[in-house]
Amino acid sequence: MRARPDPAPEPAGSRGSAPDDRRPALTDGRGHAERLRDAVVRQGGRCFWCGRPFSDLVAPTTDHVVPRVKGGPSWPENEVAACRRCNAERGHTTPVDWLEECVRRGWPADPSALDATLATLETAIVRRGGQRRARPYVHSQRRRLSRSGPGQERST
Ligand SMILES: [Zn+2]
Repeated sequence: MRARPDPAPEPAGSRGSAPDDRRPALTDGRGHAERLRDAVVRQGGRCFWCGRPFSDLVAPTTDHVVPRVKGGPSWPENEVAACRRCNAERGHTTPVDWLEECVRRGWPADPSALDATLATLETAIVRRGGQRRARPYVHSQRRRLSRSGPGQERST
């Protein structure tokens, strides 16, 4: 696969101010580009949110399911590959809110894929500990997903 390295020059030292959700933090010893490539492969070469196939014109970027500003860890389990448009438009929106927006737009964003990603992240948090902010965030996102589900009309 033609992997165009995403330069994303990120000057260090702007910690806490910039909404730099895409800044790679190498916590597992593997390179950012390699992890992004893995995510692209996992997702069948398509944007996690809008389903557009990645290409030279639609470059993949790393999107953190739990935004880093919301305490999301820089772990592979918290990363999906998203096109630049989705990544930028989503900003710090919660994954479920953004998923619902994608569905409204007629994009093939997949609630079960999101839930699977959140479940994997939840497991990783339990295993590694910590993540006091991300833990309840993931939990509430999964609750929302299970409540809304595919049949949103259904009310109890
Ligand atoms: Zn997209």
